[in-house]
Amino acid sequence: MGRLEGKIAIVTGAASGIGAVTAERLAAEGARVALADLDEPGVESLAEKIRGAGGTHAIGIRADLADPASVRAMVAATVEEFGGLDLLHNNAAATALASSLDVPVAEADPEVWDRTMRVNLSGAMVATQAALPHLIARGGGCVINTSSAAGLSGDLSHPAYAASKAALISLTRSVATQAGRSGVRCNAIAPGLIITRPEREDAYRVMLPHHLTTRLGRPEDVASAVVFLASDEASFITGQTLVVDGGLLAH
Ligand code: NAD
Repeated sequence: MGRLEGKIAIVTGAASGIGAVTAERLAAEGARVALADLDEPGVESLAEKIRGAGGTHAIGIRADLADPASVRAMVAATVEEFGGLDLLHNNAAATALASSLDVPVAEADPEVWDRTMRVNLSGAMVATQAALPHLIARGGGCVINTSSAAGLSGDLSHPAYAASKAALISLTRSVATQAGRSGVRCNAIAPGLIITRPEREDAYRVMLPHHLTTRLGRPEDVASAVVFLASDEASFITGQTLVVDGGLLAH
């Protein structure tokens, strides 16, 4: 029996990287999952893989976190398909876009800044707003936001990305505060350097001496934290940010 048997979850940004691995883990723990992403073929094929592997139900949904109507439709489609919602995992982010913002604050492009905030912060807020009545209707569920170590430390080259991730931690605390008495928990996860693509490994490896572990992060490390926070084992944990970074920020 999985730790999330009978639960219904949405994972945004589920077509690749951490979101894809997390969606598979949630399904392996018994959750029915809606996989949402801009990349529709990506989520469709992962949903098919999950349905084939474990027998748990999974669907793919095309959603653009920058578009409030699309975000609301994502929540509505999930509730229509599965009959409710227990877990919203706000994982999608404008990471590639943020990488193109490889400039100091003094040179930041306001339009790129706005777009980053719209996807990474406002998208999570609108999704939470749409999800809350459904979570409460099921007796309380949980929201898990993917922040970043960059949201805690500042970031040398991606100020918009770092600011959006810091604001997500604040949103996490507000949602936990406002919805706690309705039975809803809200927590954030702050991953450090997680190797989601082999081609990133060499670039990240130079940072290994700054870790307190002997290896860099894997998507599975983040997925394990999400499963824990979504499970009843974490029923007394809310408003927190769990840093999953191999000790990068601990010293
Ligand atoms: P990724 O680029 O592999 O996946 C992000 C997914 O989000 C993609 O599938 C992309 O299509 C989707 N997406 C982007 N914009 C979207 C939009 N407007 N609407 C819907 N979907 C959209 O990234 P990842 O490395 O797996 O990161 C996942 C999360 O973890 C992100 O929130 C990221 O900021 C965070 N994070 C990652 C790392 C890391 O080292 N990989 C570190 C800290 C935080």
